[in-house]
Amino acid sequence: MTPPEPTTPPPAVPAFAPVLHHRTEHLTPGEPIAAPMVSASTFAVPGDPTTSGAAYQYARWDQPTWTVLEQSLAALEGAPTLAFPSGMGAIAAVLMPLLSAGDRVLLPSDGYGAVRQLADAFLTPRGVQVEYVPTSEVAFRDLAGVRLVHLETPSNPGLRVCDVAAVAERAHAAGALVVVDNTTLTALGQRPLELGADVVVSSDTKAVNGHSDALGGHVSTRDEAVLERVRQWRTLVGGIPGAHEAWLIHRGLETLEVRLSRMCTSAQALAELFASHPAVESVAYPGLPDHPDRDVVAHQMRLGGPLVAVTFADEATAERFIADMRWMVPATSFGGTHTSAERRARWGDDVTPGFVRVAVGCEPTEELLTEARRVLDALAA
Ligand SMILES: *Cc1c(COP(=O)(O)O)cnc(C)c1O
Repeated sequence: MTPPEPTTPPPAVPAFAPVLHHRTEHLTPGEPIAAPMVSASTFAVPGDPTTSGAAYQYARWDQPTWTVLEQSLAALEGAPTLAFPSGMGAIAAVLMPLLSAGDRVLLPSDGYGAVRQLADAFLTPRGVQVEYVPTSEVAFRDLAGVRLVHLETPSNPGLRVCDVAAVAERAHAAGALVVVDNTTLTALGQRPLELGADVVVSSDTKAVNGHSDALGGHVSTRDEAVLERVRQWRTLVGGIPGAHEAWLIHRGLETLEVRLSRMCTSAQALAELFASHPAVESVAYPGLPDHPDRDVVAHQMRLGGPLVAVTFADEATAERFIADMRWMVPATSFGGTHTSAERRARWGDDVTPGFVRVAVGCEPTEELLTEARRVLDALAA
């Protein structure tokens, strides 16, 4: 993407080769290049477990296919990482053990809906003080007395952006932890831990796995106390990834860099087409020069992301756009190989009936653009 007149240098390109080679660098002759899947529930543990030398003992505690996935994700994030069976599994494993009665937590009012549902159902009734703050305002909030700030940037589906470094500085001054849900951009698009955040959470159901065939999530942090508390939650609650899912997500992760790069190139091109077309009322995309948070975008984000928010005049026009686009599946979620789209009002999001979230996939950019131009021209005719 080409951000408008950056005031500070754009973020550096993170290394991806270590994600691919962390394991293959250490292969002995005859070992498989592709990581094998291990689905064993139990392992040989002779005598005293603390001195038996067994790297694995029982698969709710740890198992080899998680290790492969977690080492790849750790190479991506630059921080120790724990794998979870879904993004919500990862988010709950941070919020539930770290917050107790009397704690104040700030959550995004315009972020992933299930996080608000989790807070209303399980945090508020336990005496945690939950406050919902719009993503565009959290960097300006007084954080005195706050225990944890959970950010999702860009927000979804509005794609507003907040300054992670600014929030982290104020949060740390107030003694609060900063958690960033980095699902939309991944560590290739934005590096919250390097911007000062304490914890990254991600739904790997989206771009990390990227093939719409497995759910997963992860938590990354350099804070050892937080990591151990999150691990303890996973072990004792038993919300653990299955071996097959961990294996699939590891395989998907190996192509994340090429897939995300294509998606973001296409998303930028599509956003520019929408911005210039009379069939469209408005478009929001972090890579457009008129984005309301463009200064933060320019210094914080290396990619614009795979999501484009486009608004048509009404529900009927929006539905026609989705139905007539040949290379577009009507579906929820994002980050997969196939471009998909949906009107977000159908889930009750605070948007107009003509608001469509386009989740760009891996189709060749020109094929996607040609088809979008054809459908938009027909809508405008
Ligand atoms: C999808 C998503 C989640 C939840 O992830 P699951 O894997 O469905 O549990 C959380 N945050 C964001 C930003 C998401 O897009």
